[in-house]
Formats: sequence, structure tokens, C-alpha cells
Amino acid sequence: GTNQAQGKTYTIATDTTWAPFEFERDGELRGIDIDLINAIAENQGFSVDIKVLGFDGALAAVQAGQADAVMAGMSITDERKQIFDFSNPYFDSGIQMAIAENNETIKSYEDLAGQKVSAKNGTEGYDFAQKLAEQHGFTVTGFQDAADAYTDVTTGNSVAVFDDYPILAYGIATGNVKLKTVTPQTQASSYGMGVKKGANDELLTQFNEGLKNLIADGTYQAILDDYLGENA
Ligand code: GLN
Repeated sequence: GTNQAQGKTYTIATDTTWAPFEFERDGELRGIDIDLINAIAENQGFSVDIKVLGFDGALAAVQAGQADAVMAGMSITDERKQIFDFSNPYFDSGIQMAIAENNETIKSYEDLAGQKVSAKNGTEGYDFAQKLAEQHGFTVTGFQDAADAYTDVTTGNSVAVFDDYPILAYGIATGNVKLKTVTPQTQASSYGMGVKKGANDELLTQFNEGLKNLIADGTYQAILDDYLGENA
């Protein structure tokens, strides 16, 4: 169709530090989400103004009409589809539990009984932890930033944190996160860019078109390799 989004500037709301999807690299905001939306914008001839609002802040800003889209490893869920429209999926993910490196007592969700765990507000990981909490009798503390949720575990206030596994795996592999995983990944879901329901169809169309082009020309894989590949 016609390039309705050509030349427009869209406000894109993202999370605070959540490597490898959004974080500072060489003094610049980078990451898979950031590089991908910038590459799609370039491919489709629109501009982006990226605002770092935190995850639940990003969702709220889009619902309030203060931003056009969330690009923040946002899981495409049926619940969110009530109030958001999503782009085509661009990354397959899921949730995992992590515990302190030196913790030898937590081996399964059953071992969380009577304990405290942490998660980030407004996330699938938080909802997942909350469901398990009812089943196994533990409490969940919510944090605005992943870093604070992780620190709650390293300082021993919580015994476990629930977050998306690519983020935990990256943090552990780079040595930035002093945690380990003992249970499998679960609750598979895919990430998409989210816009307020009915409000930004042309941006979604451009995103999907750009994503398709970047997959075809290898740019998409190059972005992933930059953060997740052998030499990342
Ligand atoms: N994928 C998770 C969700 O959509 C977490 C996203 C995030 O923390 N940025 O709830």
C-alpha cells in the first residue's frame, strides 16, 4: 500500500536497562529492541523518538496516548490483546526462575514455600510468580526495574526472581548477574511491538513490512548475532 508512515516521527516507549533488549552500550541506548526499531524505521522511512519509561510505564504511556508504541520485549498475550494491537512476533521467549549463585536449597518451586520472591511490575514473569505463589505459599515483591528485582535476590531478601530467560541467560553469561537457574524455561511467548488498540494501524503495517525486509536481507539475524552470537 501507500507509505502513510513515510516521514512521520513515532514516539516509542521502552524499558529501563534490560539487556540484551535495551541497555547502554558505548554510552548509547542500544539492544535488540532499539537496533531493530531503528533499522525498521530506516527501512520504512519514518523516524522514532525513543523514551525510556520502564516496562509498566511504557504500557501506561501508550494506553494514555503519550507514546505510539511499546518496544520492550513485550509478550503477546491474550489479556493484553484486549487493549493493545501487536505487530508480528519478532522473538520467541519465555520465563525462568533464578536464585542466588550460592543457594543450594532451592531446587524446585515447592522449595519456595514460606519464602519471598521478586519480579518486575506488570510483567508476565510477575503474573507467573503470582500464580505459583498461590499454589505453593510464597509472596511476590514487585519492582520497577529488573536490576532491583535481581538485587533483592543477591542481597538475600528474596530467594528467587522470575524474569524472561534470555535476559537472565545474558546477565549470567556476561557475569553481570550473580544468579543461577535451576528450573526449566516455561510459559513460552513471543515478543511483539504493541500499540493502543485501533490507534496505530499504519505503524504496525510499516513495522511488519520492515521486519519482513530485514529478515529477508539478513539485517535481523545480524542484530541478534550482535547481542546473542558467538562474538557478542
Ligand atoms: N516479556 C515480559 C512481558 O511482556 C517482560 C517484558 C519486560 O520486562 N520488558 O511481560
